Amino acid sequence: MFAQNDIECVIEGTSSYADTPDVYDYMQNNTDVPSQEPLVLNVYFWQIKAPDGSYGGINFTEDQLLACIANLNIFYNSHQIYFKYRGYQSVTSPSDNPLWQYEWIDTDEDNIPDAWVCVEYPGQFDPNGYGNIGRCWDLSHFFGWANSNGYRHTDAINIYVPYGSEFGGAAAGVISNSTILKYAKLVTPSATHEIGHNIGLYHTRAKGNGNSNQEHDTRDEFLPNGELNLEFNARTADDNVMDTAANTTFRYVDANGQSIYPYIDENCKYIPNLIEKDEINHPYTHITNLDVINTMGDAYECLTNYLSPGQVYRMRDKIQNAPPLSNTLTEVASLYEPYKGSYPLYYPHPQPWVYPLFQPGFNYRFVECQCDCDDIDTGGGPVPYEYTNFNSTNTSILTIDKNEPNYSLITHPNHTAIRILEFNISDYAVPRRCYDNWYSPPIIGGSIIKFNDNVFNANVTITPQDANSINNSNLINELQPGLYNIIKTDSNGNNQETVIFKENE
Ligand SMILES: [Zn+2]
Repeated sequence: MFAQNDIECVIEGTSSYADTPDVYDYMQNNTDVPSQEPLVLNVYFWQIKAPDGSYGGINFTEDQLLACIANLNIFYNSHQIYFKYRGYQSVTSPSDNPLWQYEWIDTDEDNIPDAWVCVEYPGQFDPNGYGNIGRCWDLSHFFGWANSNGYRHTDAINIYVPYGSEFGGAAAGVISNSTILKYAKLVTPSATHEIGHNIGLYHTRAKGNGNSNQEHDTRDEFLPNGELNLEFNARTADDNVMDTAANTTFRYVDANGQSIYPYIDENCKYIPNLIEKDEINHPYTHITNLDVINTMGDAYECLTNYLSPGQVYRMRDKIQNAPPLSNTLTEVASLYEPYKGSYPLYYPHPQPWVYPLFQPGFNYRFVECQCDCDDIDTGGGPVPYEYTNFNSTNTSILTIDKNEPNYSLITHPNHTAIRILEFNISDYAVPRRCYDNWYSPPIIGGSIIKFNDNVFNANVTITPQDANSINNSNLINELQPGLYNIIKTDSNGNNQETVIFKENE
């Protein structure tokens, strides 16, 4: 019923961290982004269920969240922006949300539906709660509800994942740490678009959800005679980014409420025309294919993962300087920590074992390493990220592509260190966390069998040993002369037998 709105993005609020005074102009002056410091943001997911605990018949899996993380990284990593998966929590919606529906109805009494309108059903409760977030009552209450119930982390980007919504995605605001992305949208350009809002980007056409012709077509800040061009306002109008062209909107709604794109051709190119104009009556002459496919545009059928250099510069600035975003920053080292599982502390290790798993979306090389590690106690695990006093080679024992679909393969083999190829500058481009474990299973007990006749026969005395006694380094010294079988039992339940004949001294 609401499929026609399924692609739309809505921004719920405006940020108090706006651009005044705007010290940056977000021009095409950031060709050095690949050499800039990586920025790593925490991401936490919230599965939003119906009041009865159901999830719209969808089989919710953690792999889908990881696929979202992978997608975000694959797109944003080229801008030296990274996302660290921090897990998820499942929460159940309240059962007393009032029922509203967004309906295409007749508003001018000609019996022909002509507009989308929010319709209240008094006295009824919404059986979906926030599990299917409507754009009428639900959306304006959801973020407040999540916040007041403790379902928001201030040190992470929070992605709320209902099973349905009457929109494609909804950021809590431009420069904010919360976004709604229904399950089916987690691995689509809607995800990169909404996160784009979170980390500082407006729509290219307007600051909010509507259309705007306020940004003027001209890109020229100065007139040919060197004077200021008073018509130039790209720095402060609409998206506040200079290298995205001015546009009013790409998407229109036809008489049946369907999205149409009358000035976009089948190749996602803008069709110049004299209908669409800025507020000072200039037709748009600078819109390129890159503006049409821009992640923050509204030509949804063309929308892809593209951002302009100015947008990238703006994001990196906001992430570092706006507290709602700078609070979500974490260390590069966190990406070298598993999101699940643990390291065996000895080999062979008990079975079954959940190995350390690393988030998908990176090109990993787990390269041969060797660590004496005399100056550090790792307890059998890998060395810390900061510790680089180990040897490694370029030989990859395990190679993982950023598009690897089987996430259970992304683990950390023994005697290897981790290279994440996306980090390709200076100190970041070296193998980290050598895991070089040669420990055997601990001996946890056993027994001493004494052959009383000093030959192998059934005349024996068996003395059980606990962990202390069997591991006593004086064990053999303290034995009386004679023939023995010393049985050591390790933590895996395996026995090692050692026969000794101790002579009279
Ligand atoms: Zn949007």
